[in-house]
Parts: sequence; C-alpha cells; structure tokens
Amino acid sequence: MGNELYFDNSATTRISEEALKAYLSVSREQYGNPSSLHGMGQAAEAVLNDARKTLAKTLGDTAGGTLIFTSGGTEANNLAITGRAHAKPRFRGKTILTSAGEHASVKLPLAALENEGFRIVEIPTEGGRLDPEAIARLATPDVILASVMLVNNETGALYDVAAVAAALRRSSPDAILHVDATQAYLKVPFTVKSLGCGMVTLSSHKIEGPMGTGALWVDPGVIRNRGLSPILFGGGQEGGLRSGTEDPPSVAAFAKAAAIGFSALSERSEKLAALRALLLDRIARDPGLSGVRPNLPPVYAPHILSLTLPRIKSETMLHALSARGIYVSSGSACSSHGKHGTSALTAFGLSVSDADATIRVSFSHRNTPEQVDLLADALSEEISRLARF
Ligand code: PMP
Repeated sequence: MGNELYFDNSATTRISEEALKAYLSVSREQYGNPSSLHGMGQAAEAVLNDARKTLAKTLGDTAGGTLIFTSGGTEANNLAITGRAHAKPRFRGKTILTSAGEHASVKLPLAALENEGFRIVEIPTEGGRLDPEAIARLATPDVILASVMLVNNETGALYDVAAVAAALRRSSPDAILHVDATQAYLKVPFTVKSLGCGMVTLSSHKIEGPMGTGALWVDPGVIRNRGLSPILFGGGQEGGLRSGTEDPPSVAAFAKAAAIGFSALSERSEKLAALRALLLDRIARDPGLSGVRPNLPPVYAPHILSLTLPRIKSETMLHALSARGIYVSSGSACSSHGKHGTSALTAFGLSVSDADATIRVSFSHRNTPEQVDLLADALSEEISRLARF
C-alpha cells in the first residue's frame, strides 16, 4: 500500500501518526487497569478523564455531560436505544421515532424493540431531508426516544435534527433525542446544544482514530433521572453504564485524533467541499461521465458523494476500480454485508435498481485534486468498458 487512491473514508480512515503515537505511549507507560486503586490504576484513569475533557470540548459541552466509552458507534447506538427503552418499566410499549434509512446499528436494535412491543415510527427522508410535517405530526406525548442521525452515511444528507428536538420539547415530555453523529463528527460543526439532544454517538475510526472505540455522550439530566440503563453488565465501569475494562490506549488515541480534527475542522471541511465540487464538476463536463447521476441532498456534509451509475451494478464498478488500486464503496460498506444495504438510498427516493447501481465516494482531507482527477478518469474508462457487457 502507498499508491492507493482511497475514497472510502466514511467506511474508515487511516489512523493518524499522532493518534498512533498516543496509543503506543499509553500502552507503554499508563498500562494499569483504570479500576485499580493504586497509582498505576490512577494514572490510567487519568488518561480516560483527560480524554473525556477533550471530547467534551469538541462537543461544546459546558453542562457537564457524561461520556461513556464503548467499542464504537455500533455499541453506542445500541446502548442509547436499548438502554433508553429499558430504563423504566413505564416505557414498555411506547413510541420511538427514527429516520428512514438509519445505519443498521440503529435500525436493528429498534427492530428488536418492536418485537418486544414498542412502536417504531419512521420520519420519511425523501430527497435527503427529514419531512418537517411528519416531525410535527409524529411528536406525541407517547414518544420516549427519537434516534435520528445527523449525517446519512450513504447520501451525505445533513438532517435538521434540531427541528426534531424542538418538536419533542413542545409535545413529548418523556422524550429525549439521540443523535448518531458517527458521520457528522468533525466534518460539520455542531454542539450538543445546537442539536438539542440528550445523547450523541461518536466513533473513533471515522476521524483518524483507532478502530473499535467510540463513545456515547449523555446529558446530565438523563443521568440524574436514571433515564438510561446499561446493556452490558459486569464490573460496573463507566458509572455502571458500560461494564468491561476500558481501553485507555485507544481512548487516548481517539481523543488525540478528535483534538486535531476539532482545531482543523473548518480548514478540513473547506478542503473536503472543494474535492467534492471538483468531482461534481468533472461529472458535469466529461462526456464519458454524462450518464452518472449524483444524488444531491439539499443540505449535506462535505465528505460524501453518492453517484448512481448508468446501468452498472455498484459492486461491479467497485471491483473494477479496486483492481486499479482505487477504493470506493457500494452504498455503505457497513451495510453491504446485509439485506439492509439500500434502504437509505430507497428512502432518498431511488428505485431498487438505481440503488444497486449507486457508489459512494467519501473523501479525506488527505485526498488531493490530482487524485480526484484520476478517480474521474478511471470512472469514465470503466463506464465505457463495462457498458459493453
Ligand atoms: N452509524 C453510522 C452512520 C455509521 O456510518 C457507522 C459506521 N459505518 C456506524 C454507526 C457504526 O460505527 P462503528 O463502525 O464504530 O461501530
């Protein structure tokens, strides 16, 4: 590896050197168990607490929320959803709102709750926006939770989750808003206050931190009211909300990547937007790309571009590009293992066959305009080659 053209940064990013250094340093020096009472334990615990402060700052949290470290975005989403639904016996059978086309780590815990008797209701996302009328209509006193992503991982749509928060505040006194910010974090600016949410999911490996680590931020009011219950039971780590020995090296590396990403947010976003605009420009001007249809949400994150190809299956294109050392994804890498792969795209308004012909290009601030040109050249060549079959 070295000459690859990696455009699958929403699936994962390469860990930064700084994060890697932090990982190694904590592994070597602060290797105690954070729960141990002695000095080595305290040193490891201090690593976690420093990371909590750093991450809280990137979320603009001034209210003293709780950061629960998890094994990643998937676990944070499961904790938020299942932990909320099971927090109080009186929540049984109540309503949970979500958006159409969520990641499987939101959709499937909700499906499990539906089997338990909860009512799960989707806010339509046609055209890449949350339907405002549906939000107003669906926010009822019966709602105990809304779980809505900030940026869709397949289309890049940036949703107005604050509108959901406002509707819940008006009409749903028992409800809290959970935001899966896995794809939004450090790509678009937000604070927990600007979202108006009670819980936020973060994942480290999307922001140049290590894989297998993440966090759920929880509002102090939710903790105070015992509005969240654990889904893992054991040693009582993380305030009893996530048992299991924490991973200080990964957490330190996550926080390092977050601190760097936070200070570079606007500069990196501008760069990402320019790369995205460049590819769109090539598509608009290059006759070889005239059959490619970009799926453009009205408001979007700068690092994701969804492209529907002219009657070529996304998997075929993915493999053709991969053979050239160019990496994109078909829909979303996380969902391409299962049957849930195309739902965000069909919810956007694509037919199933168009969804099957849709690739996702996701940029890193480390990509260059030259790389985007090479991607566009390769796409154009492969479209004319594959169209012959
Ligand atoms: N939510 C979204 C929107 C995602 O894109 C992903 C990762 N593909 C996840 C959750 C899961 O995060 P993780 O890989 O850290 O479990």
